[in-house]
Amino acid sequence: GKGAAMVTAVAYRLAEHSREIAQTLSEFRLTTEQLLEVKKRMRVEIQNGLSKSTQEAATVKMQPSFVYSTPDGSEHGDFLALDLGGTNFRVLLVKIRSGKRTVEMHNKIYSIPLEVMQGTGEELFDHIVQCISDFLDYMGMKNTRLPLGFTFSFPCRQTSLDTGILVTWTKGFKATDCEGEDVVGLLREAIKRREEFDLDVVAIVNDTVGTMMACAYEEPTCEIGFIAGTGTNTCYIEEMRNIEMVDGDEGRMCVNMEWGAFGDNGCLDDIRTEYDRAVDDFSLNSGKQRYEKMCSGMYLGEIVRNILIDMTKRGFLFRGQISETLKTRGIFETKFLSQIESDRLALLQVRSILQHLGLDSTCDDSIIVKEVCGAVSCRAAQLCGAGMAAVVEKIRENRGLDHLNITVGVDGTLYKLHPHFSKIMQQTVNKLAPQCNVNFLLSEDGSGKGAALITAVGCRLRQELNS
Ligand code: BGC
Ligand code: MG
Repeated sequence: GKGAAMVTAVAYRLAEHSREIAQTLSEFRLTTEQLLEVKKRMRVEIQNGLSKSTQEAATVKMQPSFVYSTPDGSEHGDFLALDLGGTNFRVLLVKIRSGKRTVEMHNKIYSIPLEVMQGTGEELFDHIVQCISDFLDYMGMKNTRLPLGFTFSFPCRQTSLDTGILVTWTKGFKATDCEGEDVVGLLREAIKRREEFDLDVVAIVNDTVGTMMACAYEEPTCEIGFIAGTGTNTCYIEEMRNIEMVDGDEGRMCVNMEWGAFGDNGCLDDIRTEYDRAVDDFSLNSGKQRYEKMCSGMYLGEIVRNILIDMTKRGFLFRGQISETLKTRGIFETKFLSQIESDRLALLQVRSILQHLGLDSTCDDSIIVKEVCGAVSCRAAQLCGAGMAAVVEKIRENRGLDHLNITVGVDGTLYKLHPHFSKIMQQTVNKLAPQCNVNFLLSEDGSGKGAALITAVGCRLRQELNS
């Protein structure tokens, strides 16, 4: 009768919905062939960034770091370190003792208000120096001229250990009058303006390089640094002969890849979805950092949100009602994705997380949301894995080895908090680079410790030059 027909109609509509949901999410499921293709393209971009004739137009810039070696244990002294560009801004005092081979750290976290992140450069650097001032008071060290290592997690063109010209802001930063400027100069000027204390800025350090150095202090096979946090990036030890932008063919140097910009020339367009394009269009730096926007913590939640909006519009979710919350940018932080995807969580708890965010969901809704999160974060981990496979293969070939054993030092909230990211990334690297044995090592406070180790080496080299 009529009832049966209606039940059939409802069942038919539900089946149709789940087919369409599966269809949408299938765009995020990359095949092994596609991932191999991503690896191959990354390898091409690495070459473009390293070669003089292609570097200027290259998207993956392969910035030299002027860090020539990993630590050897002889590093010694007291150092100040700054860590700017991740989830938190921190000032640290790092005491390295060569004899006992110990590193002692004191740090304080400071917030950078949004209006300072996106105000003028002068305001930003005055704020940074204000925080240093507070920290030196706190430690009772205003009168010592400490050597300082500045972990600055943005793309910089370096011409020495203590010069770094900001190429472009990334992530949530957009202070004026900084791009194209030497960031070390901006910091030194702000210290001068304050006329309260003096510091010796010795090194500017990318967070990937700091992370690699911190891990290498414990594990000598660590020759790669990787970040999956607010943003994403990788550095590794390259042969000097291959770094055409720096004179000299002997030895090795750590190269900051700035791989977040992979795809900015359109080479990933065939795998980017309409949701990736929407996230990019509404970001602070549209058209830039396209790989980063598919892979890192600041953007994964936004991809998820865009999918959920679309699915709601199509009537598959939240009874077709787009709430104000769902329209709010940035609601799905990494920690929520990580919670939603946790295996130990019952669906009821997923619902309560969504509720907490202000999203009224049915049980079916929560299943779909969890599936969406899973598809987006799985793709992110696989894409990072494909990029890493290109890097380890490059190192293996550099050294003419059939087999390479190597350690990657890792940091970042996405990698550390997400329940599946690390496992999926490891599996992907294993599959795409079978001739390499890649071991991931979590760094503890890499940016602070690593910057201090680099500063220690910088101080020693300077003394040797002056004597
Ligand atoms: C920056 C890199 C940094 C990475 C991770 C990216 O947005 O361009 O310099 O290493 O984020 O913090
Ligand atoms: Mg960081």
